[in-house]
Amino acid sequence: MSKDTLQFKYQCSECGKTYAIEPGTYTCPDCAKKQEENRPLRGILDVELSGTAPESRDVRDFLPVPTEFFPSIPVGNTPLWQPENLRKQTGFHKLFIKDDGLNPTGSLKDRASYLVAAFARQHGINTVIVASTGNAASSMSGVGAAAGLAVTIFIPKTAPEAKMVQSLQYGAKVVLVDGTYDDAYELSMKYAAKNGGLNRNTAFNPLTIEGKKTAALEIFFQLGHMPETVFVPVGDGVIISGIFKGFRDLIQLKFADRMPTIVAVQAQGSSAICRAFETDGFDEPVASSTVADSISVDVPRNGFHALMNLKRFNGECVTISDNEILSAQKQLSGSAGLFSEPAAATSFAGFLKLKNELDTSADIVILSTGNGLKDIVSAREAVTVPVKPVKILGEIK
Ligand SMILES: *Cc1c(COP(=O)(O)O)cnc(C)c1O
Repeated sequence: MSKDTLQFKYQCSECGKTYAIEPGTYTCPDCAKKQEENRPLRGILDVELSGTAPESRDVRDFLPVPTEFFPSIPVGNTPLWQPENLRKQTGFHKLFIKDDGLNPTGSLKDRASYLVAAFARQHGINTVIVASTGNAASSMSGVGAAAGLAVTIFIPKTAPEAKMVQSLQYGAKVVLVDGTYDDAYELSMKYAAKNGGLNRNTAFNPLTIEGKKTAALEIFFQLGHMPETVFVPVGDGVIISGIFKGFRDLIQLKFADRMPTIVAVQAQGSSAICRAFETDGFDEPVASSTVADSISVDVPRNGFHALMNLKRFNGECVTISDNEILSAQKQLSGSAGLFSEPAAATSFAGFLKLKNELDTSADIVILSTGNGLKDIVSAREAVTVPVKPVKILGEIK
């Protein structure tokens, strides 16, 4: 497959075997045989590119599907902006926010859905299946609607209502699962194997990782150089691998010569990747529990792959309590005017936790991954909602 100046193929992140990027290829068939129950996916495929850098700064020109197949919905190109009050409060005068909550469906997941939708259209596939804690589902539903695709989603019955209603609005078939996200994932895999259609499950479909790399490409092009440090909220570990991939492509294409420090931020109650980072492996899963539903996973699907990237590129890991997440969320809202969902505020919480170890004059990017309106129930916890309505001025306290 070629696009102007770049060629693309899949390469197994474990054994190095290469495969064409075509329908039906998801994980490396050889390494998938080593799959153990209740462990992250084996045989995750990377997209490897070769050739010379395109002239354009349209990030789609760095993706393995020709631009004409992308649906017209405007995904990506989100602002990288300078939060003045937060800079003053924290003393970091080169702090930046990359606000991916401003994507069409309100989360960074649109970057993956966008590439998956383009791939489906390129190959004449009409149906897409996905399991999700909520955002990948609402994202695929919305981007799929714009692309004219039929989307079936599997979400746990505990998913925030807004994400479900959003998916229904977009016209998706919603399967509510009596169980966790991990249960929804298993069920969707069986359903996809039986009914066909393109599987957009995170990590399993390598294009989900590749699609998310555009956030890193944009950060680099917007800043004009590599940042020092990027804080990334981590659940399944696909966003963070996408961020590594984007910067890795830029280094390979000679735009830059060093990898930023990428910090994986996890909730204390859902920290499988950070635990594995300490111990160098994945143990029995621990039932996850955190206010940040989008990063609540027992078995991180992309765990091995994310861990490999963190080790290879000297990344770091930090875990955050739910109280710290909710207070970071409130600070972002009240000081920056950025209302993010708890998972998205986790990256800022990670910055607050590590800031004493950081250089105050470094370019630091907080990746905000999802919009606050997606989960009002959690956001209520950090505010006092007025209970008594007033009718006359005298009643106002
Ligand atoms: C999915 C998601 C994450 C975590 O991404 P992973 O690829 O699962 O690590 C973080 N924040 C938001 C808002 C998300 O939707």
